[in-house]
Amino acid sequence: MKFIGTRGTDEKKSFSEVILNPAAPNGGLYVPSKLPKINEKFLHRYYDVQDEKPYTHITRGILKLFKIDIDERLIEKALYTYLREFDDPDVVPVVRLNKNLFVGELWHGPTRAFKDMALQPFGVILSSLAKQRGENYLILAATSGDTGPATLKTFENRDNIKVVCIYPHEGTSEVQKLQMVTTDAKNEKVLGIIGNFDDAQSALKSLLKDDDFRNTLKENNIKLSAANSVNFGRIIFQIIYHFWSYMQLAESAEIDLLDEIDVIIPSGNFGNALGAYYAKKMGLPINKIVIASNKNNILYEFIKYGKYDLRDKNLIHTISPAMDILKSSNVERVLFDKFGEERTKELMENLESEGFFELTEKEHEAIKEDFLADFATDAECEEIIAKYAKENNYIMDAHTATAIKAYEYLSEKGEIKNKVVAYSTAEWTKFAPSVYEALTKEDINREIAELEEKTIADKDAIAYIEAHYKVMAPESIRELFDKDINETVINKNEIKENIIKFVTEK
Ligand SMILES: *Cc1c(COP(=O)(O)O)cnc(C)c1O
Repeated sequence: MKFIGTRGTDEKKSFSEVILNPAAPNGGLYVPSKLPKINEKFLHRYYDVQDEKPYTHITRGILKLFKIDIDERLIEKALYTYLREFDDPDVVPVVRLNKNLFVGELWHGPTRAFKDMALQPFGVILSSLAKQRGENYLILAATSGDTGPATLKTFENRDNIKVVCIYPHEGTSEVQKLQMVTTDAKNEKVLGIIGNFDDAQSALKSLLKDDDFRNTLKENNIKLSAANSVNFGRIIFQIIYHFWSYMQLAESAEIDLLDEIDVIIPSGNFGNALGAYYAKKMGLPINKIVIASNKNNILYEFIKYGKYDLRDKNLIHTISPAMDILKSSNVERVLFDKFGEERTKELMENLESEGFFELTEKEHEAIKEDFLADFATDAECEEIIAKYAKENNYIMDAHTATAIKAYEYLSEKGEIKNKVVAYSTAEWTKFAPSVYEALTKEDINREIAELEEKTIADKDAIAYIEAHYKVMAPESIRELFDKDINETVINKNEIKENIIKFVTEK
């Protein structure tokens, strides 16, 4: 399998080149030059075997189709993370909520959010490649909350890799922050900055263009890579669980093999949804991929109206912060797949220079063939959280609630009719205060606390939810509250010197 750039490339790249150097020419992203296709026989092969079919089994089968230049032993080592680091033998359990609605839980990994699905195996592959080549890499990550912990976790004490993770000092949940500032790996540095996520991200971007910084890295024999969601090494692992969920429904006789299903995906940077799109293109019987947004509903507008318009938009802070995104990088890969490199370049350049692009009517139709969209306000998420806790004894976080709201709304309107897999992208423990608030909306004590302007601490919210519902936070979350904290908070203009100091030490 070879990879090409979405905005034109002269040469094709291999998978290993693309994951080590994820930026494609002309500001584009790498995509497979041709997606592999499955047929009925492929699905039957997984359906017909009667014995245990673990998650790794289908993962292995799908990776084989991509013919990537990673040797089998390394792939096995990467897949082993699903067995060692995930706390459910199914890896992605598919839970039934009603006759038509199933939840695919993507958060059974070590940091309790969907980022582990890809970053766990990805970390093994990237660091082994670096080691094989005798190269040293620095991974710079700006995070609003979930990517940081998952990146730190996967590269913890790995050879040939250093990680610097920059987060907005006051802009993450307490659990997310603890997951970062309690890391004690020698090859990792965590920097809190005074500012918001955009400040963190733009500081990193200007650093990447800074000659002095680049030269210092070069002199120290350090190359730069990235573990963000534009790296195809992450996307490939986000294709697989869509196959897995489908097979789970088939095996439990909820559907017949080859029946179509719909999937609903809480979306931000569109990497999870892109995985579903590729799965569909490969031949998995998915009818609609439903994009669920929060109040930052630019993806909803894109799919509904065929316009991507950043003008007059300001980022709104919601209770689903991992989806507080306006520039959704992976949309570009869908544009490329549908309309080719020239048109993609044109649309993306328009977005960059004018702040918007608009599809033709025909192009918009092509998008609507595969996608539907909906969005939820914070109040709607809270209602959903409370309702499913009460009626199903199922506790979900606000990101997941955007998908369940979309299910309720679109199935009511008759726009989705098949069995549905809605993806849950974070465990409730990661965002416990907002879940607590949703569950106690009508609680009189809560009102009193609010009058006194007290917000509940994560630890107390978790304890409350555990005491009132049949759920328990995992050890990996509980132990965070007792760990040593190693927090460095700096100004934006101190980032460069801090990184240089860290990478040149010893
Ligand atoms: C990253 C993340 C998302 C958004 O996923 P994309 O692939 O960026 O669309 C949704 N929910 C949670 C909890 C996340 O961590």
